Amino acid sequence: MSAIKKIAFIGLGNMGKPMAENLIKNGFALNVFDLNTAVLDDLAKQGATVATSPIEAGKDVDVVITMLPAGQHVKDVYLGKDGQAGLLDSVGKNTLLVDSSTIAASDAREVAKAATAKGITFMDAPVSGGTAGAAAGTLSFIVGGSAEKFEQVKPVLEAMGKNIFHAGDVGAGQVAKICNNMLLGVIMTGTAEAMNLGAKNGLDPKVLSNILSCSTGRNWALEVCNPHPNVGDDMPSSRGYTGGFMSKLMLKDMNLAKQTANDTGVVTPMADQATALYTQHSEAHGDKDFSSIMAHYDAEVLS
Ligand code: NAD
Repeated sequence: MSAIKKIAFIGLGNMGKPMAENLIKNGFALNVFDLNTAVLDDLAKQGATVATSPIEAGKDVDVVITMLPAGQHVKDVYLGKDGQAGLLDSVGKNTLLVDSSTIAASDAREVAKAATAKGITFMDAPVSGGTAGAAAGTLSFIVGGSAEKFEQVKPVLEAMGKNIFHAGDVGAGQVAKICNNMLLGVIMTGTAEAMNLGAKNGLDPKVLSNILSCSTGRNWALEVCNPHPNVGDDMPSSRGYTGGFMSKLMLKDMNLAKQTANDTGVVTPMADQATALYTQHSEAHGDKDFSSIMAHYDAEVLS
């Protein structure tokens, strides 16, 4: 068992709640806080201590984990908001701060810099694996921070995930995560494009999918999350594109990739095209799984 015993978990939404539940199951003592108090009762029944603010949650804990919607929420919680104190003003120097939200690397580095100035360690540890991975405890964590602190926090992340990667220094976790999701967004649009071309030219989508899956076009979207509704039995596309990873979240990640590319003068022409498609698509179908980008090619799949 790790030397880490007490953890504050802040942000208990679709991802955070099941992650917190896995920490409780693995024997960690938990303080929990969310602006939405409705989610906290259930965790209290499982043994968590409900706090009334991030600062109260972060009192006398070994680790703080945040799982918040976006960069601004993360900055509000750690740096403070409207002149009010943030976690960096209150946690002990030995408390490890771990943000698992998906945010811009520049935001993660900004919080880390402010933490370092106070002698506190902040790491980014975004996840891959979605709500199913959060519930099953099989998430991938992609951590940015020093090798020493990574080893310290690893047992905690292992209670919520299967693959725990050290990507490099602070911010590297976020960069690796958005590289993955940028690639996934491009691959999904390309896969929908190819499936549509074949189907419109008379091919059975199942047959085409089998051929591509055994050929050089093979990829995750084809095999696990095929955008064509007539291919798999247990995929978002086979149940009206429900469940899975929402288009608006894919758009969020693609925009973060663009922000990082702009910040560092890197060109991403393929991602720009895919982002334009997801921007348009998310206006009407933001809550549908991102494989519903298929509707851009064949509107009938969502009619
Ligand atoms: P969510 O909106 O379901 O949950 C976020 C929670 O944070 C909410 O319960 C909200 O009330 C709470 N919150 C907001 N501001 C707060 C504050 N100042 N203090 C305390 N609580 C606050 O979002 P989610 O789906 O759980 O995603 C969380 C993060 O994980 C996001 O950054 C997202 O991009 C990332 N992510 C999501 C998925 C997914 O499939 N949902 C997959 C990988 C990564």
